[in-house]
Amino acid sequence: MVWNRLQVALAFAAVLVVPLRASANGIVSHMHISDLALRRLPPGELRDLLSDPELVDIYRAGSVFPDSGYAASDAYGEICHWEPFTTAYIRWIRENHGDDLTTPEARFHIAFLMGQASHGLADQVFDSLFMARTTQLDGDSSNLDTAAEGWLVVEHDPRNEIEAVFDGEAMVDVFAGYPELLDDHDPDAATFETGRVQISRAIGAIYAFGWTWYDMYWIEMPWAATHYYEADNVPGSLPHVATFVAEYWQVLWERVHGRDTLGESFLGTWPEDGAVNFETARDRVESRAMIVFGHGLDRSTFGGNVRLLDPEGAVVPAEARFIYGSPFANAILVQANDDLAYDTEYVVEVGTGVRDIDARAIPEPVSFSFRTRCAPDRLGDCPPLPEEWVRPEDPMPPPRDAGRPRRPDGGTDAGIDAGSEATIDAGTPDVGGGGGCATSGASSGALLGLAVTWLARRRRTR
Ligand SMILES: [Zn+2]
Repeated sequence: MVWNRLQVALAFAAVLVVPLRASANGIVSHMHISDLALRRLPPGELRDLLSDPELVDIYRAGSVFPDSGYAASDAYGEICHWEPFTTAYIRWIRENHGDDLTTPEARFHIAFLMGQASHGLADQVFDSLFMARTTQLDGDSSNLDTAAEGWLVVEHDPRNEIEAVFDGEAMVDVFAGYPELLDDHDPDAATFETGRVQISRAIGAIYAFGWTWYDMYWIEMPWAATHYYEADNVPGSLPHVATFVAEYWQVLWERVHGRDTLGESFLGTWPEDGAVNFETARDRVESRAMIVFGHGLDRSTFGGNVRLLDPEGAVVPAEARFIYGSPFANAILVQANDDLAYDTEYVVEVGTGVRDIDARAIPEPVSFSFRTRCAPDRLGDCPPLPEEWVRPEDPMPPPRDAGRPRRPDGGTDAGIDAGSEATIDAGTPDVGGGGGCATSGASSGALLGLAVTWLARRRRTR
């Protein structure tokens, strides 16, 4: 595919409108989280399925599917972010392919389901942990989704540039089959096709132009820029989100085979069980704990059943909620109504009164504990606190070659085909290895890059 100027302009318009939700991960980040989660899966049937060269781009397409609804300006986008859709899709797969889940059709849908579910969970975990910290430490996270796409393609070249594949007819069927789960919404196949085309353009545009906003957003959000890919001790970074997705996929694998139990639904927590130096101040985002499950839990059953307990086992007044409004989701946030006590062990417990979307009850309570930090005048009684991050007075992105990094020849995987050539034909200055400068040419790519930067700024200040 050779892009002409009109197509480039369209793509570049698409990148500004997709994703429309001013939060959450961007679409290349979503595909990459799934790529990282795959590497974390234990050997076995599920890992084999998702590693199938025929299916790698299918789970990636599933990973961008929810946001394609925003691109198509259709309500399916929001609906497909949540467990009611995941539940409906699993039922559809079981009803239509349950007799033999090893057929190519069944494997396609399982891969696509894993992508869709990865997207939904990633948005919950990332927004609950990383975006909230970005707001606190960088002051504003409203451009974080777009920003991180630029940092990711420049710094990690995730090599997942795909032309998305959706089975629109099947999606129509899922919506038609489970209206009670899907808000009686009934999108048609043309709507899914619009979403598919738009999201594919947006992926191409991010690969082509992500580098143009690397510096601008780095300077705007230096904490996020230096932490979004840190694997250790950065809650909600892309690798950390992937650890939850890998656990979730294993529960989904059981669900799609009809062998799941709520007793094996627990995926993980933040902080980890037994953590120390937990924040006490309620006005700090670090004082919020999270516990995640692989089924859609019913928010209306949390009262009295999701509890924060002090060392005597007494209930500490706290709120338990999802980050957004869905009645059924996976990641429960628990935060005390007041500051916690210093140097004290607390327990978060999810009791047997909590039910899932099918009204099944959790068979055994699930709990984890953490210990709060010491008071400022008693710091010696606790392990050393991690160093506090201080915003640099004049944030400076790391030096790098100007322009879009050049892809090494060869070694391209299944995810890169038309796209990589397209970006070169689009006139992007191909100066990666040569220390060239993006301003060196009045090429259409550089001009478009500047325009993207300008438009992005305009969006930011509106
Ligand atoms: Zn999303």
